[in-house]
Amino acid sequence: MNLELPGDEHPIRQEFRNWLKEHPYYTNDDLARGGWVAPHWQRPWGHDLAPIDQLVIEDELKEQGIRKPSNQIGIGWAGPTIMTAGTEAQKERYLFPLLSAEEIWCQLFSEPDAGSDLASLRTTAVADGDYFIVNGQKIWTSFGHIAQFGILLARTDKDAPKHQGISYFICPMNTKGITVSPIIDMSGNHSFNQVFFDNVIIPKENLVGEINKGWSLAKVTLQNERVSLSTGGALWGFGPTAEDLIDLIKLAYLDGGERVKSPVLRDRIAKVYGEGQILKWLTLRQVSSAIKGSQPGPESSVRKALGDEHGQTLFELAKDMSGALGMLSDATKIKEVDKLQSFAAGWHYGYAFSRALTIGGGTSEVQRNIIAERFFGFAKEPDISS
Ligand SMILES: Cc1cc2nc3c(=O)[nH]c(=O)nc-3n(C[C@H](O)[C@H](O)[C@H](O)COP(=O)(O)OP(=O)(O)OC[C@H]3O[C@@H](n4cnc5c(N)ncnc54)[C@H](O)[C@@H]3O)c2cc1C
Repeated sequence: MNLELPGDEHPIRQEFRNWLKEHPYYTNDDLARGGWVAPHWQRPWGHDLAPIDQLVIEDELKEQGIRKPSNQIGIGWAGPTIMTAGTEAQKERYLFPLLSAEEIWCQLFSEPDAGSDLASLRTTAVADGDYFIVNGQKIWTSFGHIAQFGILLARTDKDAPKHQGISYFICPMNTKGITVSPIIDMSGNHSFNQVFFDNVIIPKENLVGEINKGWSLAKVTLQNERVSLSTGGALWGFGPTAEDLIDLIKLAYLDGGERVKSPVLRDRIAKVYGEGQILKWLTLRQVSSAIKGSQPGPESSVRKALGDEHGQTLFELAKDMSGALGMLSDATKIKEVDKLQSFAAGWHYGYAFSRALTIGGGTSEVQRNIIAERFFGFAKEPDISS
């Protein structure tokens, strides 16, 4: 399968190139207000583009060496939900600063006893005049320490059935009563946090959608989390791919070739490379069905289940091929380091982070449940949580 993108004459390519000519010194805000950060969003935030045109713009951005503003949760999950269910005032206030990454967002969903079974969440938001008073605890909040806003799920009706008493809020992270406490992951990075709410006052205008109807909005957010048109690397679309392993193999050969002589290692290299190719085709298949107008279905769970495990296998292999220096987080600090050693060290972070792949955004087991139920028609598992 080959996905040929429309070439130079394509109108949207031309439109973007003309815009660039008119904005030679563009800022992130210009890109956002020009509608080029999320061009598939409706106007005025995007250009209402079909998936194929969206890919053309991605291609054009890459060609021109333009990096889009980075605000994964804001642009990827919060923005589409606000666009779907937010008030006009919310859209006006939040969408452009979120697209330009002037304001960073986090996702306040998971709790210590509510991860895969998110609807078991216990954080409460009690209505009090023009406000809600929020109490509870969230965990694994990526970017919570740098975010200006969070999308927050809280229980607004304790007596309603589990999925029906939840509401969806926009939470300013600098509000009195919020404590953000860091969690350092095994790569040594501080990317997520615990967040505590102690009588936090949130104005009623920060409710998104209707009260007690937050679960259906959470599903919009979670769908956007799982679906990506990215054909990128093994760390949820970032980082290296199986093809980058070839560079490592070539360098290993320069090193005398000892490391790649083992037939077991060669077998593993071939397997990982093959998996990488299959995943590329699966992604292209998803892209082409999106181009034909299909809504994403359970096949995104197939891709996630395979892709996350592939990411782990890929980094394990790279680490084994890198030898002793692959154990260092930054071998470039060693003066005598040669090209192979420095390249090998680059895989270290990915190896440590790759453990998270099969957990975040829905664990591998949960993806397999979805595959079993939606593809094979297995009975839904009983809810034993309440
Ligand atoms: C890198 C990273 C970033 C994250 N960022 C955020 C964030 O920004 N905001 C946020 O809200 N959350 C975030 N999370 C949390 C993430 O959504 C949860 O970790 C995930 O939903 C799993 O929940 P849990 O950790 O509570 O595990 P649990 O749900 O407790 O699962 C424990 C184990 O039981 C298995 N299991 C659970 N239920 C079933 C079942 N029904 N059938 C079979 N097996 C089952 C799981 O597969 C897993 O192996 C992040 C997680 C990671 C790893």
